[in-house]
Amino acid sequence: MSQLEIKNLHVSIADKEIVKGLSLTIKGGEVHAIMGPNGTGKSTLSKAIAGHPDYTITSGEVLLDGVSILEKEADERARAGIFLAFQYPSEIPGVSIANFLRAALQARLADGEEIDASGYYKRLYAKMDLLKIDRKFTSRAVNDGFSGGEKKRCEILQMAMLEPKVALMDETDSGLDIDALRIVADGVNTMRGPGLGVLLITHYQRLLDYIVPDYVHVMYDGRIVKSGDKNLAHELEAKGYDWIKKELASAKA
Ligand code: ADP
Ligand code: MG
Repeated sequence: MSQLEIKNLHVSIADKEIVKGLSLTIKGGEVHAIMGPNGTGKSTLSKAIAGHPDYTITSGEVLLDGVSILEKEADERARAGIFLAFQYPSEIPGVSIANFLRAALQARLADGEEIDASGYYKRLYAKMDLLKIDRKFTSRAVNDGFSGGEKKRCEILQMAMLEPKVALMDETDSGLDIDALRIVADGVNTMRGPGLGVLLITHYQRLLDYIVPDYVHVMYDGRIVKSGDKNLAHELEAKGYDWIKKELASAKA
């Protein structure tokens, strides 16, 4: 069973501190949701863990199975088992999904090692069957003219092929229709299991009706200020975030 430990993490962008001492442990099999108002540092957290070069980790630790990943470049972190689902996926006209995924897997192999083509297609088709994706889908160019739902299907298939230990999913729920939400949810629910920990970042409770989280955390001003179970998400949906701000203010006073 894998485990991602985030310990007292501080992250800055252009000398401005955005994540201000955040701790969280995600074990294999667990789904953690982070909710919080806009601008609170949720995307910054996921990009910093994935190794985005614009985000500077000024202190704290991120351990994957007990080993620090902070010295690793983004591609090495991906190879170690961290998967970041992009909020705004890119289009790659002219490159089919099948070839893109093959290149992504090839990139993880050591120099001189080649992906075995028949083994690759066997695995691809097995994952597509698992996720109920039509065979025709992978001959299309990556995200080229895709609907929101098709982009999500592509992303979920990529995740299934890469078999990460930890998936960081930063969702723009606002841009997703119900079909796209279901695609993400069905994919994650299918892959859920001891080998996979999930960090689901979401602004709205809606996604959590489909992917029921084990834990819900509220992030505010760069920190986790409250944690609970799925009921916390319902409470936030009903009451907004102001009561949490008030709680924090009265705790300080
Ligand atoms: P959230 O995902 O919770 O809405 P973000 O992590 O995107 O929050 O942003 C947190 C803060 O960091 C915001 O004030 C935002 O303006 C700032 N920020 C995010 N990315 C950048 C960037 N690349 N350059 C400068 N400031 C940024
Ligand atoms: Mg964000």
